[in-house]
Amino acid sequence: MSNKTKRFLLPESEIPTQWYNIQAEMPNKPLPFLHPGTKQPLKSSDLYPIFCEECSNQELNQTDTWIDIPEEVRDRYKNWRCTPLVRAYGLEKALDTPAHIYFKNESVSPVGSHKLNSALPQVYYNKQQGVTNITTETGAGQWGTALAYACSQFGIDAAVYMVKISYEQKPYRRSMMNIFGAQVTPSPSMSTRAGKDILTQHPDSNGSLGTAISEAIELATQTPNCKYTLGSVLNHVSLHQTVIGLEAEKQMAMAGEYPDKVIACFGGGSNFSGIAFPFMRHNFSEGKKTEFIAAEPESCPKLTKGVFEYDFGDETGYTPLLPMYTLGHNFQPASIHAGGLRYHGAGVILSQLLKDGYLKGVDLPQSETFKAGILFARSEGIVPAPESCHAIAATVREALRCKAEGKSEVLLFNLSGHGIIDLASYDRYMQGDLTDYVPSNSELESYLKDIDVLQP
Ligand SMILES: *Cc1c(COP(=O)(O)O)cnc(C)c1O
Repeated sequence: MSNKTKRFLLPESEIPTQWYNIQAEMPNKPLPFLHPGTKQPLKSSDLYPIFCEECSNQELNQTDTWIDIPEEVRDRYKNWRCTPLVRAYGLEKALDTPAHIYFKNESVSPVGSHKLNSALPQVYYNKQQGVTNITTETGAGQWGTALAYACSQFGIDAAVYMVKISYEQKPYRRSMMNIFGAQVTPSPSMSTRAGKDILTQHPDSNGSLGTAISEAIELATQTPNCKYTLGSVLNHVSLHQTVIGLEAEKQMAMAGEYPDKVIACFGGGSNFSGIAFPFMRHNFSEGKKTEFIAAEPESCPKLTKGVFEYDFGDETGYTPLLPMYTLGHNFQPASIHAGGLRYHGAGVILSQLLKDGYLKGVDLPQSETFKAGILFARSEGIVPAPESCHAIAATVREALRCKAEGKSEVLLFNLSGHGIIDLASYDRYMQGDLTDYVPSNSELESYLKDIDVLQP
């Protein structure tokens, strides 16, 4: 046995006590959210009808760099945090690369992904405020499962709208939500006006996150003592996820290294923010030159082919107008297996940072991501979530570039989740059943036309 350290572990006492609020330190602050009717900038109190007050306040907080993590939330984080930072010696060997590859293993959470990092505080703050029911949407089922878990921890009822294609492809995520006591409805459904409208126009709709969000918001605004929660895209979600990078920063120091590249897959941007922001602050303030790479599916390329415009976060137009990179709120992503990456927009903070050149997007074909996922499973012994396979594939590209250039760069990626409940997708890949899909320029343009043009 070699004496090289494989996993860099922190004790419970090192669970962060504060989240890092990048909004306070960004060189250019994000533009305001706009009211969809009046087009006036929103205050946090304008968000109170939909979100709980504390999350609304965190959403627009551009002044406090550090925000305390409540003790009740840190207590629940102890169920699995701190997560390991792992040196991927197996993957390095398989690729024969001089790069040093590390990954932060968020797949060890009780629900199998990073989503719980934000579900717990969101439910906690709702509970504090006296909310009794929470609605949400879920794509691949990861967020819904995290929310169901968090609601069971704090004694709150959860109603989850699950994107129909995932409801059908991933029945075990529904089982997990049911185990934790949530009610799960496939979306689009006939239970809301938003769902009915879409089913009338597209009776065979596979559903999308945008539609499911509309349904969940509609239920929240029409039910007393009920609030809506979102598992990605929004600023307060990115804030909560910074526990990932704050731990990773200490663990990289234990390894005696600092990342040249930080890589994560990108759906709405929360796990990317989580691993990236605590390192990015050293780019702002200390002149570090770390590169941040966001890996998205080529079938849903908002970072590489989207436009920076004010657009809705959902399909029906219930949300505020958000200044972000978007493919248009009507964009219908192909039915790829990384359900958590099928979202049309990029979030407000991340879009500003992309515009300012602090991160770059890379888009990947589905087949390349599964190939990388299987290589990772065989070399590191963990089956990654299809979403996380995008981060792995982007890391593989970097590692092979390092090999070609003879450079031993330090690569850090976030393993956002495991794929044990996504085995049907792996089966299809191994049977040669998966096709790649690249939207044509004319298809992309047809959705961009639907954006209510309001230049930021
Ligand atoms: C939801 C999810 C994602 C994508 O969401 P982000 O907000 O972009 O992080 C990625 N990986 C896993 C495992 C997920 O569950």
